[in-house]
Amino acid sequence: MAKKYGNLINGEEVKSRKTYKSRNSSELADIVGIFPEASKAQVRAAAQAAKDAFKTWSKTPAPIRGDLIGNIGVALTREKESLSRLLSREMGKTYKEALGDVQEAIDTCHFFQSEGRRLYGQTVPSEMPNKELLTYRRPLGVVGIITAGNFPVAVPAWKIIPALLTGNTIVWKPSEDSPATSYALVKLMLEAGLPDGVLNLVFGGGAKAAGEYLIDMIDEGLIDKFAFTGSTAVGRKIGEIAGRNLQHPTLELGGKNPLIVMRDADIENAVAGALWASFGTGGQRCTSAGNIIVDAPVYTEFKKEFVKAAKAVKIGDPNKYDDVLYGPFINERFYENWLKHYDWAKKDGAKLLYGNGRITKDNKPKGFVGDPEAAFYGWPTIWEKVTTDFKQFQTEIFGPTINLVKVNGIAEAMEAANSVDYGLSSAIYTNNREWAFIFKDNIEAGMSSINNSTTGAEAHMPFGGVKGSGNGTRESGIWVIDNYTYWHGINDDVSGKLQLAQMDTEYIEAKDEVDIDNMF
Ligand code: NAD
Repeated sequence: MAKKYGNLINGEEVKSRKTYKSRNSSELADIVGIFPEASKAQVRAAAQAAKDAFKTWSKTPAPIRGDLIGNIGVALTREKESLSRLLSREMGKTYKEALGDVQEAIDTCHFFQSEGRRLYGQTVPSEMPNKELLTYRRPLGVVGIITAGNFPVAVPAWKIIPALLTGNTIVWKPSEDSPATSYALVKLMLEAGLPDGVLNLVFGGGAKAAGEYLIDMIDEGLIDKFAFTGSTAVGRKIGEIAGRNLQHPTLELGGKNPLIVMRDADIENAVAGALWASFGTGGQRCTSAGNIIVDAPVYTEFKKEFVKAAKAVKIGDPNKYDDVLYGPFINERFYENWLKHYDWAKKDGAKLLYGNGRITKDNKPKGFVGDPEAAFYGWPTIWEKVTTDFKQFQTEIFGPTINLVKVNGIAEAMEAANSVDYGLSSAIYTNNREWAFIFKDNIEAGMSSINNSTTGAEAHMPFGGVKGSGNGTRESGIWVIDNYTYWHGINDDVSGKLQLAQMDTEYIEAKDEVDIDNMF
């Protein structure tokens, strides 16, 4: 019998009247746990608890908050394997990837633990005597966080860790696709010593549920900052509501990431990178490749090797087989959204090179292991004869599918790469210095790789996109601190009189001009 869990509000476990089941993505009959659908009153109570806790947490010295972040890193390191196993069971990514997901959160703790001893402001000279100018970073208040389920540890940690370090308090509504992993993550964070109310967790769905209720708290004045990772459509809504409240939300949204293969590329390396970018995590990463743009002289060779590699891909339950490239769809919703693109391809006239919809007992690729009907699995799918006006070229599909697009030369490759409304990640395979330079100088994306895949991030680099992929805010590294603090400028005047800037300033007058021509 699966266990029932509650929301974590003000240090207490709070059950809700309505509940839902979280299932093992690879074996739908296996129920991981039963989770609450938080009511609006519960979400409001969580926001109020965070508001109350802000008074003391924001005044706790930053180095002490940093030490606590260090404790979270220790707890996560201790439980790295158990948390990764849970993540893999609930969300369906491979154990190796799940370990990476948790490691990203540990790296984030390492980075921000010592930031508590920096969090520098500036001492700035004044234009008047006996006066000092200083700048301080101040926390924003209560941060509302909503996240997607495909990176259930790394992505929330990117937000929660810096927000806490800088003195904010939090209400987090994780994805309904990964509540157990989120519950375990928050339990580890609370174990590290977080005072009650500093980090609150509410469960439930998005529209007309906990997600929407949390956004409503912006208008109710209980949320001072919103941080969201998910689809562009929901991000836009949050942007509108935050905007009318004069807030600047963090919005990390969808992607349709180009991977370019030029005529001089190391084809073996390009195929390995393209395969991982297209089918790793079953294509369910915001940084998964959406279109592979191949230079005409190597198109035939690349296609042959890429299709060959796709045919050799091993797929199956990652909890039972540790050498699969990818597992199931996170759930039926992702499978159904992915399946639609087969119709789009038919309508627009794309040519199917490999793939055949849902994997079933009677319809499975050679590399499939286990029972395909225990969950939702998709064939690795490859299309060609796709042009930039096709729906499948422009739309994020979020599943194992990729388009091969033939171009001629770097100019055409760049035009195709920049012709989508997204701009998250991107990659080029080339050994030509000039083409690599043209790519990095002109690509419309927040993140780019040269001779590596579109996916992957390190905890000390800025993560985020442009165009439809976000509003320019960044996760990770020192840049994220700007998203959770405001700058407070202080004028400290000890002159004992009213000094007016620009008016009482004693500027030094220049002397007569020096005329070198007439000097000698
Ligand atoms: P989604 O937008 O449907 O859901 C994401 C979160 O928003 C979930 O917690 C969901 O409950 C909530 N939500 C949904 N509708 C809502 C509403 N009307 N009001 C309030 N909350 C709502 O996204 P998804 O399909 O679950 O996740 C995949 C998407 O996330 C893809 O577009 C992917 O690219 C994106 N993503 C982006 C990043 C990034 O860093 N840029 C990382 C991971 C995933």
